[in-house]
Amino acid sequence: MKVWVDSQRCQGHTLCAMIAPDSFVLSDIDGSSSAVNDVVPPDQEDLVREAAHSCPEQAIMITDET
Ligand code: SF4
Repeated sequence: MKVWVDSQRCQGHTLCAMIAPDSFVLSDIDGSSSAVNDVVPPDQEDLVREAAHSCPEQAIMITDET
């Protein structure tokens, strides 16, 4: 499973980093989110999916491709 954040959509609501703090990091400069790892560790997949569903901007893209 892979994940990335669409920086055009992300508004820095921080929800993703609260839900999956090991998988998303927020920029100190503009507060936007980015994925810590493109390839999600198996034990993070559920949290990353939850974060993607919770993002108000639908900025978190996930794919089951490896
Ligand atoms: S929840 Fe969505 S909009 Fe908010 S910081 Fe994360 S990716 Fe950006």
